[in-house]
Amino acid sequence: MANYTTMHMGGAAAHFGAAQEREQVEQAVAWAKSQNLPVNVLGEGSNMIVGDGSVQALILKLEIAGFMTQPLGDGLVRVTVGGGEHWDDVVKRTVDLGLTGLETLSMIPGTTGAAPVQNAGAYGGEIADHLVDVEAYDMRDRAWVTLTAKDCDLGYRSSRFREADAGRFIITSVRFDLREGAPDPARYERLVKRLTADGITQPTGQQLRDTVMALRARCYQIQVSYQVRGRFQESDCGCGDVTAVGA
Ligand SMILES: Cc1cc2nc3c(=O)[nH]c(=O)nc-3n(C[C@H](O)[C@H](O)[C@H](O)COP(=O)(O)OP(=O)(O)OC[C@H]3O[C@@H](n4cnc5c(N)ncnc54)[C@H](O)[C@@H]3O)c2cc1C
Repeated sequence: MANYTTMHMGGAAAHFGAAQEREQVEQAVAWAKSQNLPVNVLGEGSNMIVGDGSVQALILKLEIAGFMTQPLGDGLVRVTVGGGEHWDDVVKRTVDLGLTGLETLSMIPGTTGAAPVQNAGAYGGEIADHLVDVEAYDMRDRAWVTLTAKDCDLGYRSSRFREADAGRFIITSVRFDLREGAPDPARYERLVKRLTADGITQPTGQQLRDTVMALRARCYQIQVSYQVRGRFQESDCGCGDVTAVGA
């Protein structure tokens, strides 16, 4: 697993598979159940610590791709994204399309499917702000479900996927409603300060993304220097508490 976590830690997985299609998710779960094995979902391993011993589970790497847009009228656009898509690519694509809503979440590592798990957020924005629903495979009931944002029970870096229903759902696609046009005014203090210092009062989506990326580039340096036994301590960088969790 060391090759699949950003901490480069973790022993060998007893079983490892990747799913590029929904059907493969279902098949993988059925096989694991037949072997009495738990299934641990893996995105990009950026919020995961795995022990050095062998992992007695099926590790299922979610690699489902997809990016679709659907205009809803009045400048609103629904974006449907495969759970395996790299999150920052998704943010970039939406900004390139002139859609606003996800800019402050630029450069958060990981996959789109994992983002609702801890309601990923930074610089005053979070997944909950624009999430419509997720499509997921319910490993308990062996059924496909659509969970609305409300059903996901999103809180500060939390959700039902991390709390009450940890390990139950595999998120295969995520839908957001975004708007065409300019972003809402930035609220996060450090972000506002940086924009003001750069002489930007009404940022475009691209300017907002660029500014967040510049702040994060510095933030990552701070985090690396603060790293203690796998836990990123809270810093003044603006990303909030970045805490690695067990697999
Ligand atoms: C340098 C750095 C900076 C970071 N900055 C931020 C930040 O600013 N804000 C923030 O919120 N987070 C931040 N994080 C944490 C991390 O980026 C997020 O938690 C991200 O969403 C994890 O994505 P992943 O694909 O790497 O998930 P993984 O680490 O692979 O998995 C994390 C958890 O989610 C589960 N999971 C993964 N994919 C799915 C799926 N498709 N369905 C169901 N469960 C799934 C896994 O089983 C595991 O429990 C940071 C991490 C690092 C290393």
